[in-house]
Amino acid sequence: MARTFHVLYLPNVSLADAPCAEASVFSALRSIGLLSSRADERRDEVGRNVRRYAIAETAGKLFRKLVPDDFALGDYVESTVGRYANGWSLNQVERYDCPLCKAPFQHCSDAEAFAQILKDMQRAIVEFTDTGRPTRIHCPACSAPVECADWKADVPAAFAHLAFEFSQFPPFNSGVISIPAELFGYGEWLVDLPSAIQSAAAQPVGWSMGRI
Ligand SMILES: [Zn+2]
Repeated sequence: MARTFHVLYLPNVSLADAPCAEASVFSALRSIGLLSSRADERRDEVGRNVRRYAIAETAGKLFRKLVPDDFALGDYVESTVGRYANGWSLNQVERYDCPLCKAPFQHCSDAEAFAQILKDMQRAIVEFTDTGRPTRIHCPACSAPVECADWKADVPAAFAHLAFEFSQFPPFNSGVISIPAELFGYGEWLVDLPSAIQSAAAQPVGWSMGRI
């Protein structure tokens, strides 16, 4: 069965600052009641530090009520400190926009140019993850070399040194999960993940997703 995951990433956090920002974000997600303190830590195959945090019991029970019975709800959040880019975004993206000339390239109407950007983006993701070097991708319209992370996309590739993956979560509208009053009991509970992460790290947050 396909697994859907959402990513909230911090594009402006440097590799050196990522461990400290990760700890601040974890504290914030714990204090809003999303996570418990348990974390499994490992180094992945490219040397990144990956931590897996369990969802807090109350949040988990409420989330269960938001999804159909046959939905395989995720029970953890994973953070990555290290060179992160979401290769699975390439299966989901429908549109890129050049940040310089603003030309749009759409999967449906500009198939050739879109396919070229997609191919270059795939190469850029591998290059960034392996070496940390940002790759430039030439715009098919204005020919300018545009850094891979600067391309606008409906589902961005999320180049970052700190990212949080929310796997198999309940409906996740731009990172906000709404738990209605009849389930929560004390009014509506809005789990606003981008705001919590942004204020904990004092850095902007981007969104991406993928389906495996
Ligand atoms: Zn352009």
